[in-house]
Amino acid sequence: MPTKKIAKGDRFGHLTAQEYTRDSSKTASWKCMCFCGTEVVVRSSRLLSGETKSCGCFSSALRNETYYRNHPEVVDRTLVRLAKRKGQA
Ligand SMILES: [Zn+2]
Repeated sequence: MPTKKIAKGDRFGHLTAQEYTRDSSKTASWKCMCFCGTEVVVRSSRLLSGETKSCGCFSSALRNETYYRNHPEVVDRTLVRLAKRKGQA
């Protein structure tokens, strides 16, 4: 049984828990807001384990590693831009 509980406003990487819900297979999940502005439903277990930390925009942006090494201060802004350019996020 999970011992940790998630509360509204809790942060998991780039996600902020918004509302308790259940996913399509009725698994306990949270509706989360990614820092890029995308709303995603993530299973509680994935949030607690650290498996899911963003809507997906973060992992795609991480491929551009060199950029972040040179510009660590603009990581967030760049991620948002990348997410928007991809038109998904
Ligand atoms: Zn995102």
